[in-house]
Amino acid sequence: MKNIIVQKFGGTSVADTDKIKNVAKAVIREKNLGNDVVVVVSAMGHTTDILTKLAKEISPNPSSREMDMLLSTGEGVSIALLAMALQAQGCKAVSMNAMQVGIITENVHSKARILEIKTEKIKQHLDSGEVVVIAGFQGITDDFEITTLGRGGSDTSAVAIAGALSAKRCDIYTDVEGVYTTDPRIVPCASRLEQISYEEMLELARVGANVLHPRAVETAARYNTPVRVRSTFKLENLGTLILGVDKMELHRPVTGVASDLSQLRVVVCDVPDSPGTAAVLFDGLAEENVSVDMIIQSYARKALNTNDIAFTIDKTDLDKTKEILEKVKSKLSFGNIFIDDKIAKISIVGAGMIDHPGIAAKMFRTLASLDINIKMISTSEIKISCLVEQSRANDAVEALHKVFGLDSNEIAEVKGDLPNI
Ligand code: ADP
Ligand code: ASP
Ligand code: MG
Repeated sequence: MKNIIVQKFGGTSVADTDKIKNVAKAVIREKNLGNDVVVVVSAMGHTTDILTKLAKEISPNPSSREMDMLLSTGEGVSIALLAMALQAQGCKAVSMNAMQVGIITENVHSKARILEIKTEKIKQHLDSGEVVVIAGFQGITDDFEITTLGRGGSDTSAVAIAGALSAKRCDIYTDVEGVYTTDPRIVPCASRLEQISYEEMLELARVGANVLHPRAVETAARYNTPVRVRSTFKLENLGTLILGVDKMELHRPVTGVASDLSQLRVVVCDVPDSPGTAAVLFDGLAEENVSVDMIIQSYARKALNTNDIAFTIDKTDLDKTKEILEKVKSKLSFGNIFIDDKIAKISIVGAGMIDHPGIAAKMFRTLASLDINIKMISTSEIKISCLVEQSRANDAVEALHKVFGLDSNEIAEVKGDLPNI
């Protein structure tokens, strides 16, 4: 039996018809190596942004069902064009959307999770020698409603399809040459990582390294699918291998630095200092699918019996959050609400942090030396995040990248042989 390779091409890789023809070459190259190939594509270029803008011109608050109907069309264009490009180059190919494949998701619009992927039809096409080109980002509910997986979700489609098909590998082709120690477009001396563990990649993706959708990494870890992030424009380069090996890089406390400008901070003042307050507030948000990231509750003002709760949410959830807070007011008394949208979350990630005390102090010292004020802090076992003024985000990333020895002229080589994947 042949190995199955899943290839995913992002928006910039299929931005125009010449690029689509170039992608077809990359697909044929993989097929000629003797593999069965399934391709997942995103919408062309900035299509998803353009469609979103069109919707906003019609209505400031379009329904999420109709947004999914609209945005899912972008990927529909790419699959048909890529299948045509493959056929024009003499390769048998067929395009399929989520409904035709059976990519079943939960019944949530705009950020649905995949529940199941039916593989029968994909396998039939592979068995008859065709390349199967599948629309990323979209899904379908049991009830035949169209859903989408959230921005950047084509990565998750690709990895989930690879898992369902027990593919040998999932290659994420993009516009950079792999996963770097930080965004190479912001810090030019960022270093490419030869390999990184699922655990570290998941943290990096969650804190803003949008080279991979976080749920794609979660899915890869669950199915133990090796993922390569590599360049569409330099096919001979192997990029970065992401897999479940945790012996790598442990000598280095920090593997990567990321910034996330997509959140804003909400401060709810003068909430009662009593049991159940946080539960009422955050239950209200959870019921409406608003994800909360960092949370801080201030030290109680004993005389007034109140304190303040600050939390961060995605900017796109602001209107919903304001409505929820209005509703919560009938159950919970509170004072003013402050919204701060000029913030950036700066994070350092590294599995080696566990064995190296003093990493947090070094991060805070570095920010202090630049006179950057820290508004909120959160940590996990392998991550430290600080919320800072957005205007200082790049200064913070550059300084942390340097102080933790990640600049390309300083980086340590990964030791040992790479697995042959
Ligand atoms: P695609 O359209 O192919 O899905 P994305 O724009 O979603 O591409 O992801 C690729 C981008 O991710 C790069 O152009 C780069 O600017 C950004 N990026 C952020 N952090 C990193 C990182 N640590 N390593 C590599 N790229 C990163
Ligand atoms: N087209 C969608 C987006 O731009 C999905 C993706 O590209 O991953 O977010
Ligand atoms: Mg992407």
